[in-house]
Amino acid sequence: MTETHPGFDTLQIHAGARPDPATGARQVPIYQSTAFVFRDADHAAALFNLQELGYIYSRLTNPTVAALQERMATLEGGAGAVCCSSGHAAQIMALFTLMAPGMNIVSSNRLYGGTVTQFSHTIRRFGWQAKFVDFDDLDAVEAAIDDNTRAIFCESIANPGGYITDLDAIGALADRVGLPMIVDNTTATPYLCRPIEHGATLVVHSLTKYLTGNGTVTGGCVIDSGKFDWSASGKFPALSEPEPAYHGLKFHETFGPLAFTFNAIAIGLRDLGMTLNPQAAHYTLMGIETLSLRMQRHCTNAVKVAEWLERDPRVAYVTYAGLPSSPYYKRMDRICPKGASSLFTFSLKAGYEACVKLIDNVNLLSHVANLGDTRSLIIHSASTTHRQLTEAQQIAAGAAPDVVRLSIGLEDAEDIIADLDQALTKAVA
Ligand SMILES: *Cc1c(COP(=O)(O)O)cnc(C)c1O
Repeated sequence: MTETHPGFDTLQIHAGARPDPATGARQVPIYQSTAFVFRDADHAAALFNLQELGYIYSRLTNPTVAALQERMATLEGGAGAVCCSSGHAAQIMALFTLMAPGMNIVSSNRLYGGTVTQFSHTIRRFGWQAKFVDFDDLDAVEAAIDDNTRAIFCESIANPGGYITDLDAIGALADRVGLPMIVDNTTATPYLCRPIEHGATLVVHSLTKYLTGNGTVTGGCVIDSGKFDWSASGKFPALSEPEPAYHGLKFHETFGPLAFTFNAIAIGLRDLGMTLNPQAAHYTLMGIETLSLRMQRHCTNAVKVAEWLERDPRVAYVTYAGLPSSPYYKRMDRICPKGASSLFTFSLKAGYEACVKLIDNVNLLSHVANLGDTRSLIIHSASTTHRQLTEAQQIAAGAAPDVVRLSIGLEDAEDIIADLDQALTKAVA
């Protein structure tokens, strides 16, 4: 048999999916079943001991969710993946295995607003802390790392401004200091960027956005590169030391490159219960089948709208990295050569009030707190998604009060532009 390497378009349709062995069903069925029958008592014992793989109970594993996990791991080039009930759950899942009370992460300050809030406040209740740094300043990132740092966290294409992180530089730093790099790849998707190729240990996703692609699902995923040596430093005892709840099993020693994935399922999903349901997994699998086609169109539409906005005298600036005027444009060649996705912001010279009026006057665009939909979406981040932040944090995150965020959809670009044009006229009248 000759070895073939299927391309992305093939894998996004076929990875993880095979005809259902019982019925021949071609599309991945929704296995809407809580529990799965054991062959006999020995089979049940082997499954519970993690000596044999199989389905027990859908809080842990489910065939529809497993197909999506395999597809995500394949598209990201990882060893394994675990799906979670939301993107935010996936972030907690990624940290849960690595962290302990008193430990910290060093995180980019350019993040999805909800993540800034999760990292600034909520994780402190677990005794964890995040140190926020400008990831364009490598010296500052390195200076923030201390003995209690357990991970470095950033977004590949950062929300809300669409800035591109230099994953190669951050990955090299993480490698040098022996820490895992976690990359939120939600805005780029594995079609535009594959963080593991730039040194990421774990990749996290909100499946809610471009991956499902049509605003129907809330879901998340953590993909493990399988490349990190969890036993080298003694800093990750959940993976390197005996696990009392599994008769002293050592996850890294036993499962090698799948140590994180198995731990996340066997301990994380078992005890935190942030499980993705099979119906959501099914919708997401269908969405991913057209991911590359949609991302191409998202990117070409975003370029057209961003170019038009940049030329408009009512607009102060546009942050889209796909514009040659962007300081991040050159990074596309290395990090996301196929495009800079369709999430960016622009600022109105007329300020905050005009931004609010603009949003109240759009017709085609939807005013919603979401992104990565077939529909074009608009939001004023400072009064919504980034509302919990201080003004200094808003500005650092790229969500200043005079800034509007767009997620450009798949409609005719001319229609998106026409709607923005008429709403801008009303906003500055
Ligand atoms: C939406 C989003 C999240 C959170 O995902 P949910 O599915 O809403 O929990 C995390 N990171 C980024 C970049 C996002 O856009």
